[in-house]
Amino acid sequence: MDFTVAIDGPAGSGKSTISKIVCSKLGFTHIDTGAMYRAVGLFALNKKIDINDEEKINSILDDIEIKYVEGKIYLNGNDVSGLIRTPEVSAAASKVSSYKLVREKLVYLQQQASKDGKYILDGRDIGYKVLPNANLKVFLTASIDCRAERRFKELPNANLDEIREQIKVRDHNDSTRKESPLKMADDAILVDTTEMTIDEVANKIIELINERMC
Ligand code: C5P
Repeated sequence: MDFTVAIDGPAGSGKSTISKIVCSKLGFTHIDTGAMYRAVGLFALNKKIDINDEEKINSILDDIEIKYVEGKIYLNGNDVSGLIRTPEVSAAASKVSSYKLVREKLVYLQQQASKDGKYILDGRDIGYKVLPNANLKVFLTASIDCRAERRFKELPNANLDEIREQIKVRDHNDSTRKESPLKMADDAILVDTTEMTIDEVANKIIELINERMC
């Protein structure tokens, strides 16, 4: 039986962590679509290409091969999973993800990769764009302070206030851009995770999946 789950939400809302847990408990495959945009941002940074130059970014898209396999992101055959979580790559990903051709390429890859089987895709536009017919759509959110603290725990050498500001900028850019902004699908279920533990959120989603699978 095929079954797809779309999990959208802003930075630090817990999408990836929760998706991984639910996938491992239910035997689904997780696709972290943010990692794909991060890989494009990393490629541009490595090649010293101006992130703000949309035409230039468009011109390198054919040189980029991205695969997301078993929790790892491969850029032109190299595992770059450990290189894509820096604040520089976050900002670059947020910028390149506003470009139409970048989105077309990655949305196509995401749709192809999740064709047959049981998948959870997490991102910003999964529910209304990548998987409009998903069996379950969830929109995760949490307060800005809570999200900043979660990121801070992942990057303890960083500065909490700086992280909070970076998240605010990214939230603003992601939700106000013209191409596929961060948006909740009309038929998504809103889950505010501010006061919830990781296990509570994961169990809530497992419950929702089980209800729909019957
Ligand atoms: O989810 P994550 O924070 O890793 O995503 C990095 C960036 O990629 C986001 O700030 C957003 O701009 C972009 N993104 C997107 N659409 C997605 C997933 C991520 O635009 N489906």
